Amino acid sequence: MCREESKEILILDSSAIINGYNPASSSKKHLISEKTIKEVKDQKSRRILETAISIKKVKIAKASEKSIQKTRKNAEKTGDLKYLSEADIETIAIALDAKEKGLQPIIITDDFTIQNVLSHMKIPYKPVITSGIKNKVKWIIYCPACGATYTDKKISTCEICGSKLKRKIKS
Ligand SMILES: [Zn+2]
Repeated sequence: MCREESKEILILDSSAIINGYNPASSSKKHLISEKTIKEVKDQKSRRILETAISIKKVKIAKASEKSIQKTRKNAEKTGDLKYLSEADIETIAIALDAKEKGLQPIIITDDFTIQNVLSHMKIPYKPVITSGIKNKVKWIIYCPACGATYTDKKISTCEICGSKLKRKIKS
């Protein structure tokens, strides 16, 4: 009998770590991209992540160019491409690579944009805090760096500080 469990691989996006997911307290294996590590800026989250890497609970992965292109194409179709960072795209692409190797990737993410693309691509995900994407939602477009919010959906970079904008669900 082959054990299903061993095929499961968890892929971390920055929101997972920032929202308190600790890979060291899971029995599963995890992957993370170099770019995602760079997105984790607060000290406590960084320490948790670095510890998990040092005890080999998290492995640093690099996505294939083929999977990155495929992710871009899908995100373009759903209209999410301009809200995804390079790290987000690589995270999804790492899941595609894992799938191709016969593994069962699950992305740990609270980012609604990533979740939307994943639903479209039929890649499973698990949120840390949020309860997953709802069918009909209203988005707020906001700047993660300075907190500015926008109603114009065509804007993808902050007019105040130039950062790449993110979306969250309006409560
Ligand atoms: Zn800004």
